[in-house]
Amino acid sequence: MRAIAAISTPVGAGGIGILRVSGEDALAVADAIFICAGSTRPLAETPLNMRFGTFDAGDFKDKGYAVFFPAARAYAGEDTVEFYLHGGVRIMQGALDAALRAGARLAERGEFTKRAYLAGRLSLADAEGVADMIGAESAAALRAAYRLMDGTLSREIDAICDLVGDIITGLEAVLDYPEETEDEVLPPLDGQIKDALARVDALLATADTGRMAKHGITAVLAGRPNAGKSSLMNALLGADRAIVTDTPGTTRDTIEGSFECDGVRINLVDTAGIRESGDAIESEGVRRALAAAEHADVVLHVVDTTAEDDEEVLLDAARVFTVRNKCDLTSYKCPRMYGCFAVSAKDGTGVEELRHAIAALYAEGKTADGEVITSERHKDALYRAKRALESAIESLDGTVDLTLVDLSEAYDALGEITGKTATEDVVDAIFSKFCVGK
Ligand code: GDP
Repeated sequence: MRAIAAISTPVGAGGIGILRVSGEDALAVADAIFICAGSTRPLAETPLNMRFGTFDAGDFKDKGYAVFFPAARAYAGEDTVEFYLHGGVRIMQGALDAALRAGARLAERGEFTKRAYLAGRLSLADAEGVADMIGAESAAALRAAYRLMDGTLSREIDAICDLVGDIITGLEAVLDYPEETEDEVLPPLDGQIKDALARVDALLATADTGRMAKHGITAVLAGRPNAGKSSLMNALLGADRAIVTDTPGTTRDTIEGSFECDGVRINLVDTAGIRESGDAIESEGVRRALAAAEHADVVLHVVDTTAEDDEEVLLDAARVFTVRNKCDLTSYKCPRMYGCFAVSAKDGTGVEELRHAIAALYAEGKTADGEVITSERHKDALYRAKRALESAIESLDGTVDLTLVDLSEAYDALGEITGKTATEDVVDAIFSKFCVGK
């Protein structure tokens, strides 16, 4: 394939900047723009060696290094040359232009990785792991991305696909030679399909954990005006990001901020005080607060310990922590109960404990070494596979033809995850989300 070129490091002032050229004619492009110093041996003869030399961009030169990766050893599975230059904006732009003039074309987003995928170097899910590595914002997200990139999920999906493939082969035999095979093949089939279904279910069970690993835990602060939600948000964030004032109802919209605790990202959403309101903007704020609470992993129901009638706020949430605030003003003792906290947003009492309690909602332990579903795309495909397998179990009593249709559907859905059965559109959509140069 024709060589593609892109700057692989962020464009800005930096110690080094990397230009990557990949494709059949990568060496020809390199020879036109880079002169190795000292030895007369061309790059082609020194694979995987860092060669010092001069990069000739035409209107300027730079000193740097070039490495030739032959196809068999290159990320993209085709001849690649990487240039390590001084990381200046003008240098890198000029170097890229020189590579383009020498015959390369500008790489599209994620095209190096797409070529690696097309060359069979990695599965579609592995490639998504690469993108997740780059985009990860917490240690938990990085660990989950690494497992994906490393092929943990792909191997399990391939194994389930093989199992479903074997069942399909067995059933086809029944269709072709019913007399000889029916008694032998059909009875164990039910158990095999159930095995495949159990493995799909086991993967789906990790989806919540995976989502938290990748996107973090969403904690929504709710409670009556003046309970101290904004103050607590600031205390939890450790920075003055929310506006804290004395007038009830001043936090009108939702305000968001995030921090990392115990390796997990925690996304805080401060909502408008939940109360009846005649003010249109305030009411909209209340509506958003309730909507945010519905999608939260946990709602921090902030209660002012000094207010006598701070009644319960009814929220439709998966999990609620009751956070009694302003404990610096009272001698309130928190009952030793899960989900109950006494804090002071003002002097910081109990805030660290609350941070750890939120982070502990991420139960990584359960999936420490195993595969975990972090992507909506994978989850959707697994749900389709699950439904198809369930339907296959039902149809097994009836017509074998229908069971075959269901099983093929399950196989295709699973194959979409690794790329075996993914359409070109799906593949393109995935790589278009990558950055240029990867
Ligand atoms: P919100 O309406 O729930 O967001 O409440 P704010 O964060 O705006 O706080 C309302 C008032 O309570 C402000 O005057 C804060 O300074 C005060 N406040 C908040 N938290 C505490 C606390 O822990 N101790 C004390 N003494 N005052 C607090």
